Amino acid sequence: MSQCIFCAIAAGDLPAEVVHRSERFVAFRDIAPKAPVHLLVIPVQHVASIAGADGLDAADRAEMPVFIAETARRAGLEDAGYRVATNHGEHARQAVFHLHWHVMGGALLSETM
Ligand code: 5GP
Ligand code: ZN
Repeated sequence: MSQCIFCAIAAGDLPAEVVHRSERFVAFRDIAPKAPVHLLVIPVQHVASIAGADGLDAADRAEMPVFIAETARRAGLEDAGYRVATNHGEHARQAVFHLHWHVMGGALLSETM
C-alpha cells in the first residue's frame, strides 16, 4: 500500500466513498465534512500540492478544472453554488500532502474560509 493516503484511495487500496472518477482524477467524500456536501478531487498522479502542479501531465492540467466542475454538477451543486479551494503548506493548514481540491456546498457557506 502507498505511504500516501490519497494515492492509496486512488489505487482502491484504502476505502473511500467515490462519487466520480476518470482515468486521471478521483472525487470522493471528505471523511470529516465541513459543509453539507464536502467532496475532494485528486489527480491520480501524485503531486504534493498546487505548488507542484507543473509536475502534472499536460492532460491532467487540462482536465482538472473540467473534472472539478463536472463533480460539482453531478453532486447537484451547480444551481445553488459551491466553493472550490486547495491548501498549500503550513499557513493554509495543509494536512494531506497530495494535491486535492475541496468542493463544498449544500448550504450558504461562511464568508471566511
Ligand atoms: P487539507 O487540510 O490537507 O487541505 O485537507 C485534507 C482533507 O482530507 C481534510 O478535509 C480531511 O477531513 C480529509 N481526509 C483526511 N484523511 C482522509 C481519509 O482517509 N479519507 C477521506 N475521505 N478524507 C480524508
Ligand atoms: Zn499521493
